[in-house]
Amino acid sequence: MSDAQPTGTSTKSRGLDVREARRDFPILNREIHGHPLVYLDNANTSQKPQGTIDTITHYYRDLNANIHRGVYELSLHTTRVYEEVRGKVRAFIGAADEREIVFVRGTTEGINLVAQTYGRTHIGAGDEIIVTTMEHHSNIVPWQMLCEQVGATLRVAPITVEGDVILDEYRSLFNKRTKFAAISHVSNAIGTVNPAKEMIAIAHEHSVPVLLDGAQSVPHFPVDVQDLDADFYVFSGHKMYAPTGIGVVYGKLNLLEEMPPFLGGGDMILTVSFEKSTWAPVPQKFEAGTPNVAGVFGLGATLDYLNGLGMSQIQEYEDGVVSYAVERLSTLDDITIIGTPRQRTGVISFTIKGVHPHDAGTILDRDGIAIRAGHHCSQPLMEFYGVPATNRVSFGLYNNHNDVDRLVAGLETVIEVFR
Ligand code: PMP
Repeated sequence: MSDAQPTGTSTKSRGLDVREARRDFPILNREIHGHPLVYLDNANTSQKPQGTIDTITHYYRDLNANIHRGVYELSLHTTRVYEEVRGKVRAFIGAADEREIVFVRGTTEGINLVAQTYGRTHIGAGDEIIVTTMEHHSNIVPWQMLCEQVGATLRVAPITVEGDVILDEYRSLFNKRTKFAAISHVSNAIGTVNPAKEMIAIAHEHSVPVLLDGAQSVPHFPVDVQDLDADFYVFSGHKMYAPTGIGVVYGKLNLLEEMPPFLGGGDMILTVSFEKSTWAPVPQKFEAGTPNVAGVFGLGATLDYLNGLGMSQIQEYEDGVVSYAVERLSTLDDITIIGTPRQRTGVISFTIKGVHPHDAGTILDRDGIAIRAGHHCSQPLMEFYGVPATNRVSFGLYNNHNDVDRLVAGLETVIEVFR
């Protein structure tokens, strides 16, 4: 099956023109082992559009200077763009105020920031933190570390075998000791879209703030942190077509303002003396040292690009491709899809009868098809499903029906080889 839309129609009203969008990603012209690349590891990291690559080059070639420090043109210009991108992020996720946007390295650093600042000051001995069975290690380990530091306990909301959080059980975990909930918006391992708004509302009924791990949601559909009423929302640039080493913590202003700093150093202070230092206002309080300026420039270019395509258009297009992939994979007898959640985005995990996931991944690579094999940093979820690892295909805006057909043909070869 070919791509649905004719060329030259990448306007928001006409839907995503994938043929045109594919031309924006130069790496898709590459051949791997003599075959055109089929890249299906977008949940791991996504490819970058030419405009983002050009923006980073332009920054280093023509603009390079540190921010917030210079009185000269290059530094003033760089600072202005850096702060403009903060505004673009605010608009992209529907935050109320630019000061609610903190630049960090990525989701992992962002969750650690919240755990070590909000967590260290609000969670104590005997308190409880709620997570779900499907969390990425990045949304488990920082909370476990905090629990060890302060004497708190992690409580885990169970899921059904289909891969949906059991909402009644989630609700019943809340009690007067519950001080925080940390939940993935979308599972990186099985693609579940959690009913985040409802889960946040339940937590708020108990006056418990919620961090949403948005690493796998922001690349796939429009996000509105105010509509969700998320207290913290954290994501990585590199999974949403932006550079590595840049990510965002959104936090409600009143929470960020009363939190202590995470890292100490230059740029996050108001005054320093050997007796006592005072902190800059948010968000600078959380941005110690020289940040990833080039990464912020690249993120800004990516947001412009995604806004041009339209997140709703991307969502609608991708959902079609993912449904087609589920349908085609379901026709292969030896394949078992892990998780059939009520709502899925971007990700399909599966096992192949009698074939180790790494062997399947290696054979597919010979055909130029890049997929993931492993536990996807979700070992507790793998344990729940009773598998050490799965194969995972994950989609981006440039994947098309041809990619799915090539994947299915490759999997037929894998099954044949091991029969
Ligand atoms: N959370 C989720 C749901 C993820 O998918 C990932 C990356 N696989 C992370 C957190 C960690 O992101 P990063 O490695 O960019 O910090």
